Amino acid sequence: MKSSKYPIIYHPSYDIPLPERHRFPGTKYSLLLRHLEDIGVIQNFLKYTPKPCTTENLSIAHEASYIEAIQTGNLSRENQVRLGLPWSETLRERSFTAPNGTLLAAQLALKTGIACHAAGGTHHAHWDFGAGFCVFNDLAYTARALIRMGLARRVLILDCDVHQGDGTANILSNDTNILTCSIHCAENYPIKKAVSDLDFAISRGSGDGDYLTVLRRCLSQIDRINFSPDFVLYDAAIDVHGNDKLGLLEMTSEGIFERDKVVLSHFKKKQVPIATTIGGGYGEAQQEVAQRHSIIFRAVASVFAS
Ligand SMILES: [Zn+2]
Repeated sequence: MKSSKYPIIYHPSYDIPLPERHRFPGTKYSLLLRHLEDIGVIQNFLKYTPKPCTTENLSIAHEASYIEAIQTGNLSRENQVRLGLPWSETLRERSFTAPNGTLLAAQLALKTGIACHAAGGTHHAHWDFGAGFCVFNDLAYTARALIRMGLARRVLILDCDVHQGDGTANILSNDTNILTCSIHCAENYPIKKAVSDLDFAISRGSGDGDYLTVLRRCLSQIDRINFSPDFVLYDAAIDVHGNDKLGLLEMTSEGIFERDKVVLSHFKKKQVPIATTIGGGYGEAQQEVAQRHSIIFRAVASVFAS
């Protein structure tokens, strides 16, 4: 399980071209990479580039006509509004590539114990429509692909985004070998929550202490239900931060670092491989958002180097 460098998966197409003042920080992916270089954390990682999914690949997690609508740019007006991102060829390219980024992270993590995708966590994407800036659901896709390829038997999706992983929960509602677990803010989007296998709703305004208590309760509950995952997909989103533009929790960067270390250490101790995604993070100061997304990479360097 030990290696001096851990995989980071990134593709130059990840940035999303958006009109000025759009709520989504479209350049946070390249800014994150540059920030990891600036602070030297990138030294702990080896860079890998994913290849785009085929339509057939994606059909394990999405309906054929929806995949085709993204392929051709023929989204209905209603689906365009739900998605919240304007269609473009770049959006198509990155949408077909990012799910394989998470899958590549998972495949590499099987060898190294840990691998990190510098994108992913698009958990609001449903079977037949995208929503909340999420086109395809990389978490549902990767979990199902791992099982179909015989690379895992029981996958845990631990979603720590401030928003509930409603798309993931719905797509996987009948997959008994995939445990969906969401820790989110009760008052955040989506207003109408889906039913994950395990849901932990935290009240608006809660900070590090409350959050870490719930996280520890969640991990011990996963232990108690005897699911024993042999693979973990961890959505290490940073929209739980007090300065996040959309999230209603009040965590600090130190609290998020602690959250990530608790999760990573827990599964490292059990020798369960983990693939991480960056998930949600919002704000007009895209550099600050990118810096917050570096927390999971710093936590990996800290936990796995020791
Ligand atoms: Zn979110």
